[in-house]
Amino acid sequence: MQFSDRLQEKNSHCATVTDIQTVSILGATGSIGTNTLDLIARSADRFQIESLTAYKNVSQLAKLAKVHNAKFAVIGDETKYKELKSYLAGTSIEIGSGETGLIEAGARQADCTIASIIGSAGLRPSIEAVRQGHRVALANKECLVAAGDVFMSEVSLANAELLPLDSEHAAIHQVLCRGMLDEVKQIIITASGGPFRNWTAKQITAATPEQALRHPNWSMGAKISIDSSTLMNKGLELIEAHHLFAIEPERLKVIIHPQSVVHCLISYYDGSVIAQMANPDMRTPIAYCLAWPGRMASPTEPLDLIKLQSLTFEAPDTERFPALDLAISALIKGGSAPNIMNAANECAVAAFLAHEISFTDITRIVEKCLEKADQQNLLQPVGTIDEVLALDHEARQLVGRLIDQN
Ligand code: NDP
Ligand code: MG
Repeated sequence: MQFSDRLQEKNSHCATVTDIQTVSILGATGSIGTNTLDLIARSADRFQIESLTAYKNVSQLAKLAKVHNAKFAVIGDETKYKELKSYLAGTSIEIGSGETGLIEAGARQADCTIASIIGSAGLRPSIEAVRQGHRVALANKECLVAAGDVFMSEVSLANAELLPLDSEHAAIHQVLCRGMLDEVKQIIITASGGPFRNWTAKQITAATPEQALRHPNWSMGAKISIDSSTLMNKGLELIEAHHLFAIEPERLKVIIHPQSVVHCLISYYDGSVIAQMANPDMRTPIAYCLAWPGRMASPTEPLDLIKLQSLTFEAPDTERFPALDLAISALIKGGSAPNIMNAANECAVAAFLAHEISFTDITRIVEKCLEKADQQNLLQPVGTIDEVLALDHEARQLVGRLIDQN
């Protein structure tokens, strides 16, 4: 379904959102998953949990499934199936495990599925949710980076309603409700600049995982926190916006906004610029997705501009943070370049978190992997999820060798 068609549907549905909604959360134990459950617990009369999934955190999954009265709980790591079974003994909660279980959780009938598994591991379960033709609130941006065209054609085929949960994209979605895409001159996505915004290039070279994890404004999972510190997160978000809103790379731009209060600015041909603002708390965009096409209360602290006093903006420094330009080149190159870049980045971030490579090695290794993949003619477009995942696997092998040689 096109974005403009979805907006028309919003208006026709507005009066009918008082029924209890069923919700599945893929990645329930993560930062987005727990924020979603926090909102749902505050409006328990409006929501009922269908499926919850995790990867290894079996005790937390079992606890969440019991507390939120889920119908189906899935642990991605098959070796933990028995443990989950014993935690949930005596309850009526159905249990699943492994990739099959995760895919089944995506396939379960739910009014809204929150796709918040991290990385391309979320691709198959998220696609399965899309195939059911209901609403999918997508946090898992790596799905769109790895498989944008394939993913979006599945959305159209199933006539599913894809809502962006990423804060900047939820902001764009809200602003675009008042205008047509062909009237838009530019979509500007903001970035906080991360914890190293004011560090010198020399200091950045010695940055540790612990320092990189300390995001100034947002509390998030480890991988996205590292992506925010390299600015790769903004690169992934440009690719995400390109697919979500069918907008060309030339009309997308990133600016640094250290307070993380303005999440997007959309400029129109008549000179108007419309921005969306909120304090940095993921419960605002999650609430937007859960209550769509209406609104629901969220505990996000109200925005107090007088207290804030000033909002500042600056250009990104792509010399100290080369990942942004790397992602823009992959977006422009198209084909499988974003997929290879995403897989390489996931591996390089994991290696940095494990203290195997330095901070600046992350982007250097991703760039090297893209060069190698190009030499091996791996950047051509592909047409199926199996092909996307085969290339993802290939890129991980390439990066593994690059890390060993590092
Ligand atoms: P977390 O690392 O906090 O949580 C990830 C979730 O995915 C956990 O439930 C984890 O289970 C599960 N998981 C991890 N690996 C696998 C796997 N191989 N197979 C199945 N499940 C797996 O991540 P975040 O919540 O921070 O981010 C989730 C997604 O949302 C990412 O794509 C991120 O870019 C996006 N996003 C996040 C934001 C945030 O504020 N956190 C903001 C905007 C977007 P377990 O706990 O058992 O490991
Ligand atoms: Mg974001």
